[in-house]
Amino acid sequence: MADLYDALGVARDADQSEIKSAYRKLARELHPDVNPDPHTQERFKEVTAAYEVLSDPQKRQRYDMGGSGGMGGANFGGFGFGDIMDAFFGGQTGGRGPRPRMREGQDALIRIEVSLDEACFGTEREITVESAVACTKCDATGCADGSDPTVCAICKGRGETQQVTRSFIGQVMTSRPCANCQGYGTVIPNPCRECAGDGRVRARQSVSVKIPPGVETGNRIQLSGRGEVGPGGGPAGDLYVEIVQREHEFLVRDNDMLHLALSIPMTAAVLGTKVTVETLDGPTEVEVKAGTQSGSTVLVKGLGVTRLRGGGRGDLVVHIEVLIPSKLKKDEEELLKKFAEMRGDKSGQVDMKRQDSGFFSKFRDAFGR
Ligand SMILES: [Zn+2]
Ligand SMILES: [Zn+2]
Repeated sequence: MADLYDALGVARDADQSEIKSAYRKLARELHPDVNPDPHTQERFKEVTAAYEVLSDPQKRQRYDMGGSGGMGGANFGGFGFGDIMDAFFGGQTGGRGPRPRMREGQDALIRIEVSLDEACFGTEREITVESAVACTKCDATGCADGSDPTVCAICKGRGETQQVTRSFIGQVMTSRPCANCQGYGTVIPNPCRECAGDGRVRARQSVSVKIPPGVETGNRIQLSGRGEVGPGGGPAGDLYVEIVQREHEFLVRDNDMLHLALSIPMTAAVLGTKVTVETLDGPTEVEVKAGTQSGSTVLVKGLGVTRLRGGGRGDLVVHIEVLIPSKLKKDEEELLKKFAEMRGDKSGQVDMKRQDSGFFSKFRDAFGR
């Protein structure tokens, strides 16, 4: 007989849990039900014998001291039934009992689109959800005409059936959910025609959803108990409403900030002007100061998006693009040349300092648009 520790592939100082898990792993691979090959069966026998000794502290000690560990060849008489069960099923032997017909329902997820306005100021929506609801015909019992489930004749209400297989290591017992009652321990002899015994049916439900100010794409609103009703009328799961915010025509959102692009004529940038822009709060006047450069910004406080967790609103950033005329009439050109002369601007004279890359490239960089 080979060394018992080698047989299990564990160190000599392995603790009980290591020994158990090593055996469990090997037993799964080598069990005759899985692998009937004679050579494998021989190995299974060896592994099981090693486990029998090493899993018992007294026998293990005797073995370590040079004894046989109480082993008599292939005699497994001392091998407790529970030990095998324990090794195979991780201590979950027997007594699991029938599973309840009434179980908790699943959560449901629905996505809804909102406009930027709705995301900023909040709204209320009436949505239609198709979901599982309790069957009213049978009061979610699944039984027709006030009848009751009866105890399963096959498993006698245990919900599982056990099979005992005799093998050379003794008896191996396996239990599986009873096929007659699907593990419930009871059968419904007269199922409800509406729900076929499930206790629930699919139906469209209208649900009112309050969307708070400040939501953004990916936010989920949890509606407790508005998900699917469980089998047998079990408590409903939750309904999650996920927000998808539509892009605005010209306002670009960045968290609680809004950005707006504004093009103004060169002369307005030089001389200064007041421009009325559309915002979420309606037309708003924005002051462009004299000498405004292309790519500069004007901040309008408080006209951004509402902060979801309170604390007011973000700001609106107006990005200014100065439009340089590309075609000039003769007299305009004359005028500008005269203007340049007055300023002492010489053609061909350029300032080599790094110029700002301009509004659009900055805007695109910042928002990946
Ligand atoms: Zn029903
Ligand atoms: Zn049964």
